[in-house]
Amino acid sequence: MAARLIVLGRQGAGKGTQCARLAERLGIHHVSTGDLFRKEITAGTPLGRDIERYVANGELVPDAVVLDVVATNLGGTEIRRRGYLLDGFPRTLAQGQALFEVLGADAADLAIEIDVPIDVVVARLGSRRVCVDCATPTSDTAPDARCACGGALHRRPDDHPEAIARRLSLYDEQSGSLLLWLDSQALLVSVDGVGEPDEVHERVVAAVASRVPEVRGLLTGHG
Ligand code: AMP
Repeated sequence: MAARLIVLGRQGAGKGTQCARLAERLGIHHVSTGDLFRKEITAGTPLGRDIERYVANGELVPDAVVLDVVATNLGGTEIRRRGYLLDGFPRTLAQGQALFEVLGADAADLAIEIDVPIDVVVARLGSRRVCVDCATPTSDTAPDARCACGGALHRRPDDHPEAIARRLSLYDEQSGSLLLWLDSQALLVSVDGVGEPDEVHERVVAAVASRVPEVRGLLTGHG
């Protein structure tokens, strides 16, 4: 009952929130390249020091580094057997093709694009705060606001206007050809990402249930 999923979407489309919920519901491994990079940067590892300037400026980390990190995280055959959800990877056509070259034709059953118009994500990113302890995002900008886990909230270091603009233009530039290619492989489904997180979650679940028969029963409670 494995599902191998890719989730794409502009920054601020709600990818992180939707991926965490979907991976938990399916019981599959959630790999967020952005989260992995932020952990390396916070821990001050050699990799973290190498990639810090790319992430802080909203630039893409070089493909070779990204592929290495993903390969390490999908290395175990058990993870591949149980299924996984790739969040924020692939982001370019080269990364997408490398994924299928390395893992074979069944590297992904479905790619879900969470579609949110640019003006909506710009507004969301401007008011995004994340928990310093558990990284959960919120839009509560009150100075004394705290995360549900009790952690303090801060603005992500790359959520400043220049980096936001850079990340959004890179998404349109780099992910456009990736989306076309995924579509040509009959792997792409687009889900409307405007609305409450619960509504979007149900749309994502419906898309996966209709396209990945192996997990339909698990998601719909039938079979
Ligand atoms: P995210 O949390 O997905 O918004 O990613 C944060 C930052 O990590 C991005 O702005 C990039 O600098 C870097 N990053 C994450 N995933 C990738 C990827 N697949 N390719 C290149 N850079 C990435």
